[in-house]
Amino acid sequence: MSTPIVSLVTGANRGIGLGVARQLAQRGHHVLLGSRDLDAGREAAETVRREVSDALVQAVQIDVTKASDVAALVDTLQQSPGRLDVLVNNAAIDYDTDQHVLTADLDRVERVWTTNTLGPWRLAQALSPFLRESPHGRLVNVSSEAGALHALRTGTPAYSHSKAALNAITIMLSAALKDDGVLVNAVCPGWVRTDMGGPNAHRSVEEGAASVVWAATLPDDGPRGGFFRDGKPLDW
Ligand code: NAP
Repeated sequence: MSTPIVSLVTGANRGIGLGVARQLAQRGHHVLLGSRDLDAGREAAETVRREVSDALVQAVQIDVTKASDVAALVDTLQQSPGRLDVLVNNAAIDYDTDQHVLTADLDRVERVWTTNTLGPWRLAQALSPFLRESPHGRLVNVSSEAGALHALRTGTPAYSHSKAALNAITIMLSAALKDDGVLVNAVCPGWVRTDMGGPNAHRSVEEGAASVVWAATLPDDGPRGGFFRDGKPLDW
C-alpha cells in the first residue's frame, strides 16, 4: 500500500476548513485537522471519522497568529508523520461589512491582517521545508474575490486588504518554491453558507470546499502562482 498524502488544513474545526478536511479524507489523505481550540478540533476530527470510512484524521492545535504554536507544530510533524505534502491556509476572520476605508478601526485592521495574511505567511515559512521535500508539494491560500484589486471599493477594508495582500504573498511564495515543484495557488471558494458567509450565501460548504480541494490535489503539471475559483482563473 502506498503512503498516504499528508495534508494540513488550518481553521478546520468548522466551516469551509472542515469541508476541506472531510473531502481530503475521502480522497485517502492523512489529514492534520488544525484548530486553535484543540477540543474543537478533536470533535471535528471525530465527526470526519464518523462520516468517512477509514478516514485518517488527526487533530492538531494551531493558532496561526502564534509563532510558538507554529514551532510546536513543526516539532510534532517532525516526530510523526515526519512529512507534509499539502498545506491549506484556510483560517481567517472578520468580513467587516460594517467598516469603511476612511473610518476603519486600524487596530481591528491590524488584527485581521495578523490572522489572514501573516498567519498563512508564517505557516508557509515554517512548513516550506516539508513541502520542498515532498514529491507533490501543494500550498493553497484560501483567499477571496473581495481581495481582487479590480473589485476593491470602500467596504470590508480590513478583510479585503488582508486578502489582496495574501494574493501578493501567493505570487511570491510560488516564485520561491517553483524550483522545488511546489504548486502554490490562491483560491476563492465563492460565497459560502458558514458563520462567516452567513445563511444567505449561494453555496454549500461542500461546493466551497471543492474549489479549495481542486488546488490541493492538482496533478504535478497543474498551474502555479494563480488565483482560481472552481478551477477557473480569476483576475487578481
Ligand atoms: P468561518 O466559518 O468563520 O471559520 C473560520 C475558521 O478559521 C474557524 O475554524 C476559526 O476557528 C478559524 N480561525 C480563526 N482565527 C484563527 C486563528 N488565529 N488560528 C487558527 N484558526 C483560526 O469561515 P469560513 O467561511 O469557513 O472561511 C474559511 C476561509 O474561506 C477563510 O479564509 C475565508 O476568508 C474564506 N472565504 C470564505 C467565504 C465565505 O463566503 N464563507 C468567501 C470567500 C472566502 P475558531 O472556531 O476557533 O474561531
